[in-house]
Amino acid sequence: MYHRTRILDRDVDRIVVPESRRQALYDLAHGQVGCHFSVHKTKQRIGLNFMCPNLVRDVVYSCKCCELCQKRARITYRDCVPIEVGVVSMEPVFSFFYVDCMGPLFNSKAQYNCAIVFLDKTCRFPHAVPLSNLTAKHCCEDMLSLWQFTDVPSRVGMDNANNFTGELTREFMRRIGCAPIFCTPCHPEANSIERTIDTLKSLISKVAQEYPRS
Ligand SMILES: [Zn+2]
Repeated sequence: MYHRTRILDRDVDRIVVPESRRQALYDLAHGQVGCHFSVHKTKQRIGLNFMCPNLVRDVVYSCKCCELCQKRARITYRDCVPIEVGVVSMEPVFSFFYVDCMGPLFNSKAQYNCAIVFLDKTCRFPHAVPLSNLTAKHCCEDMLSLWQFTDVPSRVGMDNANNFTGELTREFMRRIGCAPIFCTPCHPEANSIERTIDTLKSLISKVAQEYPRS
């Protein structure tokens, strides 16, 4: 059975390939004599002499399934394996807090221009308290007020700011039975709260643009 069509201004009678012989034709056109050409060239090569319904779909499928082509395929961004599960922390919730100070937030004079930010290491629970200034006394008071609800953590991660390394904060930590862990200087990536602070700053700046007077 033939199918008549016009190719390059000439009438061509193409053989209609029965279903049982199609796979052999695709293998021949792509693999054995086709040197593993792409879908487009394989399709062209078959289309000159043969006619099959759903030719495009079948050729795409058979080229994709070719084992040799798969092994030599370029690596694209689609081949990146997504990280399905992050690093799961086995520590109990509220046993390790990151603490850091944020501010000054505004250039103009504001009542609360700074904030102390807390982040739980396990459940990533964030908490921020606005402050008028970042003295050690204010920081200790806010730590105590949060830990009244969440229980005192066994360890706290901080940077080397004066209000955390000071005598008052050290004595406060000693009395409540909490071990401070100070980050290496000039390595803020050790303190994962920095990411939270960035998010908070972006939130505050967006709200401040919407309500500039309040
Ligand atoms: Zn191939």
